[in-house]
Amino acid sequence: MTAITWSHDVGQVAEEKQARRLTVAIDGPAGVGKSTVAKLLASRLGYLYLDTGALYRATAWAVIESGLDPADAKAVADLLSTLALQMQFHHGAATVFVNGKDVSGELRTPLVSSAASVISAMPAVRAWLLPIQREIGQGGAVVAEGRDMGTKVFPSADVKFFLEADPTVRAQRRHRELVAAGHSGALEETTTDLAGRDTRDRSRSIAPLVPAEDAQFIDTSTLSIAEVVDLMMAAVAAKL
Ligand code: C5P
Repeated sequence: MTAITWSHDVGQVAEEKQARRLTVAIDGPAGVGKSTVAKLLASRLGYLYLDTGALYRATAWAVIESGLDPADAKAVADLLSTLALQMQFHHGAATVFVNGKDVSGELRTPLVSSAASVISAMPAVRAWLLPIQREIGQGGAVVAEGRDMGTKVFPSADVKFFLEADPTVRAQRRHRELVAAGHSGALEETTTDLAGRDTRDRSRSIAPLVPAEDAQFIDTSTLSIAEVVDLMMAAVAAKL
């Protein structure tokens, strides 16, 4: 069985209110604040928030759960044909299921992060996840967040942002998140993990993390969440 499906609560997307159902693409490295601002922007617009990292993470979770080595491309490719991945959107939040099991609460561990970064460099994994991302974004009214939204998944998105921030600031933010979620581990460990993921994400041959030519850059190092969302909202409003 090879299946990736999704469903969403249509009431969430304020169809009547929107002059245009835009596709907003947000890319950038880990710890830059993408998820936080994407979620808020989607909520302000009444749009669907698509966290594509969750799809890579759920696949990585399945790889780990099956006892496979995430670096074993053949084993990972074979596993895909046995996986049923499901994303359910409800009131702005997504629940992710792997073979019927809700794994949403297990996706943000350092182990899953690292495995996601390794398997996401594999062409078979990217090819498997591409159609579902496009299908979810098909009708517009979506804020999609990841590494290749503006370059590969939604190259004709109406508005594209590329977020950057100082690596030290990103590591501190990610470390705070992990501590708040109950994970132990030193800041140095998070810094090293993030640097490793950055290098892999930016240097892989397929869909590397690069800004789309028409993306608007936002350096979030010294900006508050509200300031970033306001900047984005202004750019999106100009297109509505
Ligand atoms: O965004 P997040 O940190 O949840 O993503 C986890 C990993 O999944 C990233 O490090 C990246 O390697 C991969 N990813 C990707 N393309 C995307 C989203 C995530 O390669 N569109």
